[in-house]
Amino acid sequence: MTELPLIDERAHLRADCASCAGLCCVAPAFAASADFAIDKPAATPCPNLRADFRCGIHAQLRDRGFPGCTVFDCFGAGQRITQQTFGGRTWREAPELARAQFAVLPVMRQLQEMLWYLAEAAERPAAAPLQGEVTAARRRTEQLTAGSADDLEGMDVGAWRAEVGDLLLRVSELVRGRSRGPDRRNADLIGADLRRRKVRNAGLRGAYLIGADLRGLDLGTADLLGADLRAADVRGADLSGCLFLTQPQVEAAVGDAATRIPAVLRRPAHWS
Ligand code: SF4
Repeated sequence: MTELPLIDERAHLRADCASCAGLCCVAPAFAASADFAIDKPAATPCPNLRADFRCGIHAQLRDRGFPGCTVFDCFGAGQRITQQTFGGRTWREAPELARAQFAVLPVMRQLQEMLWYLAEAAERPAAAPLQGEVTAARRRTEQLTAGSADDLEGMDVGAWRAEVGDLLLRVSELVRGRSRGPDRRNADLIGADLRRRKVRNAGLRGAYLIGADLRGLDLGTADLLGADLRAADVRGADLSGCLFLTQPQVEAAVGDAATRIPAVLRRPAHWS
């Protein structure tokens, strides 16, 4: 029997830099820090951005002092703005479009990120009772991404994000079910040793887990939406069932060959 190719349902929610005009390398400002080797004003191309919109130091970002670039993900916003909202025209060939292209980047990124979470919600069997609402929210969010530049700039994306966030919280409660762990929403767990604390199936959305010790833990279905995992030590940990884990979060954490992550995410190169 011929094996059918797997369809990546989230393909349009992954950055496709070849179809983008380097928006994330131009629009935001950087401050020289542990994340960026240089100061860069907003709306100014990074000196490492090549004429073909590729990064000239892509393979050496961490070694050259730009780890902040490795933990950023636009969730496909860059190519959507470039190809769909502006029909393939770029800020370089049409500088009069630059202001609007840069202004819609944070809006589109939030919408694409919401679509990522909603796609996961749709894949969770335990959230079946909410599938009607999840489908409606996905449709509405897709409609919003199809708006004009003016529509996107004028949108109250924060209000829509709050509505989607409430829905995702109900999804989380269903998925974590009766065996759900403690609610540590927005908790300050910076540098905490969590190896003897209850974190399995916990509510950790928005928690500050910077530098926290999670080595060897099985987090079950812990809700990690928006949790800050910078330098969190997840060596040997099992994150494969965690809710709402994203590529930027795993890129920011410190894992190893034994760390388990959801199949939809890529294993960070620096974990090897
Ligand atoms: S270093 Fe590379 S990825 Fe980072 S902003 Fe500059 S061009 Fe973009």
